[in-house]
Amino acid sequence: MEIIADLHTHTIASTHAYSTVTENAAAAERQNLAVMGLADHSFKTSDSPHIYYFMNLYRIPRKIGNVTILRGVEANIDIKGNLDMDEFPKVFDSLDYAIASMHASTMEIGHTEEEYTAAWLKTIENPRVDILGHMGDPRYPFDIDTVIKAAAKAGKIVEINNSSPETRKGSQPLCLKIIETCKKYGVHITLSSDAHFWSMVGKFDWAMSVVEKTRYPKELVINSSVDNLEAYFNTRPNKKKISF
Ligand SMILES: [Zn+2]
Ligand SMILES: [Zn+2]
Repeated sequence: MEIIADLHTHTIASTHAYSTVTENAAAAERQNLAVMGLADHSFKTSDSPHIYYFMNLYRIPRKIGNVTILRGVEANIDIKGNLDMDEFPKVFDSLDYAIASMHASTMEIGHTEEEYTAAWLKTIENPRVDILGHMGDPRYPFDIDTVIKAAAKAGKIVEINNSSPETRKGSQPLCLKIIETCKKYGVHITLSSDAHFWSMVGKFDWAMSVVEKTRYPKELVINSSVDNLEAYFNTRPNKKKISF
């Protein structure tokens, strides 16, 4: 299966990432990607950019070289299932898309499975959320069947994050269980690099091995074609159409 978009990349705007938009876009082009999404960390990550960064993202051209650029965010979920970006609704609405993820900056370790499940369920109800980020983090256990079923009902995309085995130790069995449950409920997925340096952009080797192992249907892999991306992004209510 070919992957034509990487919807989860970070730039020097999150200062624990080390490449510019231009460097990432050039890498995406070399990887033959048609689309690259900027998803820098929302403002409650301690080294994330100021909200002005997101306010001004529309200045970045829609095309850099042959690559279509999507202007997004990786928002932080808290234990109540609220997102930090929701504090700036106008800015949030101006972005092309949002990933919502659990990070140490806003999500403590040690809550119960019920609490993390409730936080995911609330996130899924949030109309501004498109993609559920790196869910297989063993520090935040949740009821996979209940949450993935809700994601299916709400039409959310589940991310298979290529950096998970390295960044979130012990996540691999959970990721496998998540993707199998996604297949059971017919959930859209996206393979992403979560690149923090340009050489990682468009790298999906581990994520692809998981997707192939489960024989995931291509039509449900959102970033396997521009048609799939358009079918998702350009049918959302109250969102401007994106010309890919
Ligand atoms: Zn993340
Ligand atoms: Zn990330």
